[in-house]
Amino acid sequence: MRRCDVLVIGGGVVGQATAFWLLRKAPGLEVVVLERDPTYREASSGLRSRPRAECRRLTM
Ligand SMILES: Cc1cc2nc3c(=O)[nH]c(=O)nc-3n(C[C@H](O)[C@H](O)[C@H](O)COP(=O)(O)OP(=O)(O)OC[C@H]3O[C@@H](n4cnc5c(N)ncnc54)[C@H](O)[C@@H]3O)c2cc1C
Repeated sequence: MRRCDVLVIGGGVVGQATAFWLLRKAPGLEVVVLERDPTYREASSGLRSRPRAECRRLTM
């Protein structure tokens, strides 16, 4: 069985920021982020960024 110090469930913006700052403060920690959807299609962080992608396309 794989062991870690901290297991973050969910790799959206909050989960990734949590992992980032934990490692920044304590680089020796073993932090694992568990994300069920690597495409981020249904994550609210991903949904939020879609309109921005549309805007970029419109201004090009
Ligand atoms: C359309 C829309 C527009 C928005 N606009 C804004 C805005 O303008 N400004 C603003 O500040 N906020 C906005 N928000 C809110 C903001 O996007 C969210 O508050 C933020 O993205 C939440 O991040 P999160 O990491 O908590 O959740 P999410 O981004 O949803 O990430 C959670 C992750 O956890 C994963 N997960 C869930 N359960 C499990 C499990 N059991 N095992 C493994 N993985 C799991 C999911 O797959 C997902 O990737 C908007 C949201 C939406 C939907």
